[in-house]
Amino acid sequence: MELLWLLLPVAAASGWLAAKRSGKPREAPGYNGTPSYFRGLNYLLNEQPDKAIDVFVEMLEVDSETVETHLALGNLFRRRGEVDRAIRIHQNLIARPTLSRDQRAQGLLELGQDYMRAGLFDRAENLFTELGEMNMYQEQALENLRVIYQQEKDWEKCLQVSARLEQLSGQSLGTERAHFYCELAEEALSAKDNDQARSLLKKAQGCDANCVRATLLLGELEAAAGSCKAAIRTFKRIENQDLTYMAEALPTLLACYRQVGSQNELMDYLHHLVERGSGIATALALVDLIQEEEGEKSALRFLNDHLQRHPDLEGLDRLIGLNLSAGGKRATETLGILQQLLGRLLEEHPSYLCNHCGFTAKMLHWQCPGCQWWGSIKPVRGPGQGKH
Ligand SMILES: [Zn+2]
Repeated sequence: MELLWLLLPVAAASGWLAAKRSGKPREAPGYNGTPSYFRGLNYLLNEQPDKAIDVFVEMLEVDSETVETHLALGNLFRRRGEVDRAIRIHQNLIARPTLSRDQRAQGLLELGQDYMRAGLFDRAENLFTELGEMNMYQEQALENLRVIYQQEKDWEKCLQVSARLEQLSGQSLGTERAHFYCELAEEALSAKDNDQARSLLKKAQGCDANCVRATLLLGELEAAAGSCKAAIRTFKRIENQDLTYMAEALPTLLACYRQVGSQNELMDYLHHLVERGSGIATALALVDLIQEEEGEKSALRFLNDHLQRHPDLEGLDRLIGLNLSAGGKRATETLGILQQLLGRLLEEHPSYLCNHCGFTAKMLHWQCPGCQWWGSIKPVRGPGQGKH
């Protein structure tokens, strides 16, 4: 409603201006306006704001002096979620032949954003492409095109647009481009074209040397091809890219070490990772390995010691599990209850968190569903471990 009261004087003034320019005599400026003004006012007083808005918007003649008002109004409507109305205002605006080049471009940019808001991506794409061809508002147009192509999962076009955006803005989009190559690589992988996938992943690494996703996919590729040593070498790169993601590589990494039969090397490497603060997943893998090689007591001693320094729910859960098999009857009962409660806490605990918008998830997304950023979601460490 408050928007309507805002429109009221604008509409009146517009009517008055039009009348003034047409040379008709006038007694006084303001609310002595045209029949449509009163029609609109009438709707307003009868609490029919929709009709009132339409009348007032119709009254706003488009000319060089009211273009700004139209743009502002349309923008306002879009931001209030009244996209249909915003579209009508902006369509009406760009249909005028008298607009300057810049005014028309502004109208197109706004209308394109309306279409995106309404989910009409095809139409939005046409407008933003037209803007690009006009050499007007290119950066905004390309930004919007990138969002559209991401939505449509057209990764080739995402790459093209990003390259042009980089040229225009001078800012690196290496992280995003690497993810687009990874998306293409995953498509190649599901089409069983491993060579193509490999070459795309190399390109991803060329865009962003720290692209963990490309490293993970390359490692999986090597492992699947039976090249366990190459897979291990590849996965080890994650250590210097972003240690927090090491947990993602762990299952295949462990399997590869088993395959080549070097448990001692694995033991050393896991110790090294844990010391560098790689998180609970690595520590628990090490607990398993110690239990296997040196028995339960050693495993328990290691875990106890580790949890003193890095308290963690998942670690606590394993500690109880190890104690359960050793304890007496009373202790076993208590520990059983503790473990149950802990299980419930762990279930509610999110495993992944977006560092940009705070979105939490149970599985890893490379593009955040909340804020659409790439590579901003990371594995979460347990309570007491703090942020990294
Ligand atoms: Zn996010």
